[in-house]
Amino acid sequence: MEYVNLKGARVPVLGLGTWQLSGAQCADVVRAGLDLGYRHIDTAQAYNNEEEVGVALAGSGVPRDDIFLTTKVWYERIAPNELQRSVDESLTKLRTDHVDLLLIHWPNAKIPLGDSLKALAEVKAQGKARHIGVSNFTVALLKEAVEVHGVDLACDQVEYHPFLSQRPVLDFLRSHEMFLTAYSPIARGEAATHPTLMRIGEAHGKSAVQVTLRWLLDQANVVAIPKASGEKHLKSNFEIFDFKLTDAERAEIDALTGNRRLINPGWAPAWDAA
Ligand code: NAP
Repeated sequence: MEYVNLKGARVPVLGLGTWQLSGAQCADVVRAGLDLGYRHIDTAQAYNNEEEVGVALAGSGVPRDDIFLTTKVWYERIAPNELQRSVDESLTKLRTDHVDLLLIHWPNAKIPLGDSLKALAEVKAQGKARHIGVSNFTVALLKEAVEVHGVDLACDQVEYHPFLSQRPVLDFLRSHEMFLTAYSPIARGEAATHPTLMRIGEAHGKSAVQVTLRWLLDQANVVAIPKASGEKHLKSNFEIFDFKLTDAERAEIDALTGNRRLINPGWAPAWDAA
């Protein structure tokens, strides 16, 4: 495993996403991931699977301190009292007294950002979250959070893959010693069949998905959380630490990045131009 070390956090660069995993399948996949060596798990209140993630963590035999666990407060629950209450519920479901990273899942224009951030910082001060951050924040929102409200955030979790540039967000995060967690890092499966990624993979005996993950994790301040539903994908997504892309290959993938955004609900902010 490789790590991003920032602001006192030691973040395994490869995590396991759990959106759309539920019930026994979720517990089984998270457990299988931990058995394979995953030490970074991403869940959220909105995924309705914190209990199953908690079951898997508790039954795995892996010491809690060895796992980097992230959850996210749903954007309708980020008013201060509700945020606190929701985090307590999450911790009960996750069977732990703290998460390693607590994120605001989406910005919410109807709730003053400063109030939510203050509540987030209080949760951290209470020891219920080792680090705090945001998700789906644009540069303008990051500036407001970090520069206007002065809150010490570690991370912004955003959609990032070879078909969607995040250059402005990444530049901001790097200049503030923050990291970017790439969600939908394999473009929800689309990367698997992209001809350029497949061709580069063939040169290394690797798949297009493995090339995609390697490309992401070669970038400073970037970690990625691909989701997998079974042993085959879990295992192959983990087999990315034994090869290197050339500078020319990385440049070729850089040139693919465009504006293909896959996650764009009605409550999304006005995104940065790619
Ligand atoms: P993703 O990880 O880019 O893609 C998942 C899809 O790719 C699934 O259909 C999966 O299939 C397939 N896949 C996985 N490994 C593969 C492989 N080696 N070869 C071929 N196909 C493969 O998409 P995502 O689930 O949207 O994003 C990942 C995680 O990011 C989520 O689970 C969640 O934790 C987080 N996320 C956060 C937000 C947010 O708003 N903060 C939004 C979206 C996602 P199988 O399931 O069949 O294995």
